[in-house]
Amino acid sequence: MNEQKKYLLTEGDLPKAWYNIQADLPQPLPPVIHPGTMQPIGPADLAPLFPMALIMQEVSQERYIEIPEPVRDVYRLWRPTPLIRARQLEKALDTPAHIYYKYEGVSPVGSHKPNTAVPQAFYNKQEGVQGMTTETGAGQWGSAMAMACNFFGMPCDIYMVKISYQQKPYRRSMMESFGAKVTPSPSERTNAGKGILTKDPNSTGSLGIAISEAVEAAATSGGKFKYSLGSVLNHVLMHQTVIGEECLKQFEMAGEYPDVMIGCIGGGSSFAGFITPFVREKLKKGKKTRFIAVEPMAAPSLTKGKYVYDFGDTAMMTPLVKMYTLGHSFIPAPIHAGGLRYHGMAPIVCYLYDSKMIEAVAVHQNPVFEAAVQFARTEGIIPAPEPAHAVRIAIDEALRCKQTGEKKVIAFNLCGHGYFDMQAYDDYFAKKLPDFEYPTEEVEMALKELPQVNV
Ligand SMILES: *Cc1c(COP(=O)(O)O)cnc(C)c1O
Repeated sequence: MNEQKKYLLTEGDLPKAWYNIQADLPQPLPPVIHPGTMQPIGPADLAPLFPMALIMQEVSQERYIEIPEPVRDVYRLWRPTPLIRARQLEKALDTPAHIYYKYEGVSPVGSHKPNTAVPQAFYNKQEGVQGMTTETGAGQWGSAMAMACNFFGMPCDIYMVKISYQQKPYRRSMMESFGAKVTPSPSERTNAGKGILTKDPNSTGSLGIAISEAVEAAATSGGKFKYSLGSVLNHVLMHQTVIGEECLKQFEMAGEYPDVMIGCIGGGSSFAGFITPFVREKLKKGKKTRFIAVEPMAAPSLTKGKYVYDFGDTAMMTPLVKMYTLGHSFIPAPIHAGGLRYHGMAPIVCYLYDSKMIEAVAVHQNPVFEAAVQFARTEGIIPAPEPAHAVRIAIDEALRCKQTGEKKVIAFNLCGHGYFDMQAYDDYFAKKLPDFEYPTEEVEMALKELPQVNV
């Protein structure tokens, strides 16, 4: 019997265009608001931070945007990525379900993040920008941006959340290997950082604070440096659609079609990149796929947040965006899935959730690591703590199929490996992982501080 495991595309199958779901949404996304004027922002407002090509992609209503050849050339270093049938996991679960995973951990830095880092560096370089600033939490985004800037010959100035800087020295080494400059955040290099340190000299930082520092560093560079964000923004989600577009072709090769698609959500980019081409197929061809976003109980933006206008950062420097949010003052519990500890969520993912086109669930970290270990012991790959959230729900779904006898096709996005996250596994094995649940009352309190937007 031919038990095929991997569905592999050739370099010639690499998608030629990104898919922009904005073209197919029933209503346009709510406008992004300038916090000073309280009016919708225009391209000129964003020009100090981003190159015009990316600003235009952010608001584009074109269904497909061509991937520039120099970007495809870098993508070809690791793309197309494999779609893998988790046959050993299926056997271990004794489920009639078919489980597939798209594996983005084969990228040089071990996650999906270079899918957007590479085009972001490319467009900045093309418009004469001299260098990039960015923030990084767990270090995956910083690694991707460091690599991308290196390929396009630009310096990369990275503000890394201080707790991660201390806990993950090898992520810092990786960024430095690509030539990036890494500063623990909060730092004395920016007013935002100094402000936080004055109030709390021992602050271990947060993604929101690091964003404030990186934005300020770009905004005060006199146009030399621009800023890049690794998730949340529309153009970032669009760049990630190479994942889903490849996946569609791979399911064709496998002669199947997913009934359920599952992904973790931090800012929502890997999930959106994985599912939106399938959302398009559902809208156009009446496919019946369910889409499930998985978040941690400790940072439950979709399941416990409110759909309101909020700032993207802690220092209230970014524009106001309508999203499911826990409030920009949210201080995350120190769970190991660093990439999922953001207070907000991508507007596109929020729109899909609000209009019931996708579902969301929140899970605790102990069951997540239990699933991750079961996956590692059957499939051989140790997942990053973030996609381990998706593994948990995929296994739960497969176990439900065992009860009902359904032969569902389950697909999840294994958006990164966990080889830099072994401390998390150590803590899990030592039974040192607490299960934090973020209280609803805290959300209510934090949201009282938000400005009212009437549009
Ligand atoms: C950054 C990251 C995430 C969270 O970001 P999304 O934008 O939600 O994808 C999840 N998993 C991995 C491996 C990451 O690097």
